[in-house]
Amino acid sequence: MLDTQGRAIRYLRLSVTDRCNYRCLYCMGEDGVAKLPHSAILTFEELEEIARAAVACGVKKIRLTGGEPLVRRDLPRLCRRLRDIPGLEELDMTTNASLLPQYAQALKAAGLDRLNISLDSLAEDTFACLTRRGTLKEALAGLEAAEQAGFTGTKLNAVLIGGMNDREIPTLAALARDRDYSVRFIELMPIGECARWPRERFLPAQAVLDALPGLEPAGVSGVTELYRMPGWVGTVGLIRPMSHHFCAACDRIRVTADGMLKPCLHSALELPLRGLHGQALEQAIRQGILSKPQSHHMDTCRPSQSLRGMNEIGG
Ligand code: SAM
Ligand code: SF4
Repeated sequence: MLDTQGRAIRYLRLSVTDRCNYRCLYCMGEDGVAKLPHSAILTFEELEEIARAAVACGVKKIRLTGGEPLVRRDLPRLCRRLRDIPGLEELDMTTNASLLPQYAQALKAAGLDRLNISLDSLAEDTFACLTRRGTLKEALAGLEAAEQAGFTGTKLNAVLIGGMNDREIPTLAALARDRDYSVRFIELMPIGECARWPRERFLPAQAVLDALPGLEPAGVSGVTELYRMPGWVGTVGLIRPMSHHFCAACDRIRVTADGMLKPCLHSALELPLRGLHGQALEQAIRQGILSKPQSHHMDTCRPSQSLRGMNEIGG
């Protein structure tokens, strides 16, 4: 379905939980989130119903996200249910990888197509400091488990944080040297925990091109600018929500774990979907698509207008 700007909305990011086993500095406070009762979170039945309605409205790709989606019990069962929706072309997940050693095989068997893995550092101490609760070892074990389970086309996402992981740009990018990874550098956005961080933390993705002058442009995929390093198997990507607004290419909507439709990540606008069924649910999704703003108005001085942090939205 087209929105009022003529953008075809094909992509739904579906959050299955606001909880997480990590506490990344830019995403969550040290104490995590005020725990919503289980009854406040969409059930698998509701998630499937929303997914079906979204597909009826033209969505072709769904990404499961969170919080950390894999802390939600029995997630492969949800994947199987969503994978069976006629018309859904792709079912993906974004994860911090820590629980993949446990779940990668079951996710693959359930029909999950692809994984995006968040990996902000390859230095043990920086990784531990950034995630507060994670270890690099478990994240790398997760990457390996994904490979063993047969996942291909895996994307590795690193949020660029000035003074924290910018020295690691060449090391992180080099993950694409021998394996078919797409290593994507994402500009830090002033939303939630990091909304008031000092400006020097918000690095433009140009820092990647400066650190790796050999990168050659290789086209665009969605909101990602792709680059190739001669001789490398994989690609390097830049996602620049801050320095290059890509709102004109935005094809996504989001649903939070408590059932609110967010037409734009950075807008305060939310539409309740819970309790709606059939035509009424589809109608609400269509209305959400039609109320998608033309663009966000965020920059390092003006934080996101979203009422929620990233762990509640799912990125
Ligand atoms: N827990 C999962 C993970 O970390 O991959 C999924 C949810 S997490 C909110 C989704 C993505 O949002 C992660 O790649 C994370 O790095 C990114 N993210 C969180 N806060 C961000 C921010 N302020 N700016 C840019 N990306 C952010
Ligand atoms: Fe958890 Fe992902 Fe947020 Fe880190 S970025 S705290 S892993 S939800």
